[in-house]
Amino acid sequence: MARTKLVAGNWKMHGETAGNQALLDALKAGAATAKAAMAVCVPFPYLGQARAALAGTSIAWGSQDVSRHAQGAYTGEVCAAMLKDFECRYAIVGHSERRSYHGETDEVVAAKADAAIKSGLVPIICVGETLAEREGNITAAVITRQLDAVIASIGAAGLAKSVVAYEPVWAIGTGKTASPEQAQEVHASIRARVAKEDANVAAGLQILYGGSMKPNNAKELMAQPDIDGGLIGGAALVAADFLAICAAA
Ligand code: PEP
Repeated sequence: MARTKLVAGNWKMHGETAGNQALLDALKAGAATAKAAMAVCVPFPYLGQARAALAGTSIAWGSQDVSRHAQGAYTGEVCAAMLKDFECRYAIVGHSERRSYHGETDEVVAAKADAAIKSGLVPIICVGETLAEREGNITAAVITRQLDAVIASIGAAGLAKSVVAYEPVWAIGTGKTASPEQAQEVHASIRARVAKEDANVAAGLQILYGGSMKPNNAKELMAQPDIDGGLIGGAALVAADFLAICAAA
C-alpha cells in the first residue's frame, strides 16, 4: 500500500509571538516545495496563532501533549476537546520528554492516545528506547512493550486513526541519528507487530522517524521502505531546514 509521507515539527517549549509568526509565514511561503504533508506541533498558548496563520493552507497544526481526561478538575491540563476546538489535527503523545520528566507510563500514554482519538484528533504516538536499553539489546522488547500498551487501549481500529513515531531517546536533540538501517529495522518491527493485529492497518500505518533528523540525513532515512516521514525537533525551528526536510521526503 502506498503511504503518503508526513513531516511534523515539534517546537517543544520554544517560541514567542513575533518569532512564531515569521516561522509560520516562511513555512507557508515554502509549502509548495514540500513533497510530504506538513504539520507543526506548537506550545498550547500558540495554537490560536498557528490556526490563524495556517487555516486554509496545506499545513496542519497540533499540540505536543493532551490530557487523558475528558474534562474536569485537572488543573493545568488541556483536554482533547479543547484541542479540537482549536482545529488541531494532531496531538503528540508519549514523547520521551513526557515519559522521562513527567513519569508518563505506557498505560498513561495509551490512555492519552485513546482520549485523542475519541475527540477526532490524530495522536502521534511516540515510542523509543534509551541508550542503555539499546546497549542492553532490549530495543525490540521495549518497543513491543510500549506498543502493546497502546494496542490494549485502542486496538487496531485506533491505530488506523493514529500515527506512530519511532524516536530513539539517545538520538533526540543529541545530534546522533539512528542509521537508516537501524531505524528501518525498528520501523519494520513496529509494522510487523501491528500486522499481527490487522495486516491492512499495518500496511497503511504512517511510522515517522524522529531523532536529529536534519536536511543532510532526511533523504536517506525517508528512502527506507518503512519510514513514512519525520518528527522533527531542532530543525523544525529553522524554516529553511524544515522545508528542506519536507522537500527531501
Ligand atoms: C523531537 O523532539 O521529537 C525530536 C526528534 O527532536 P530532534 O529532532 O531535535 O532530535
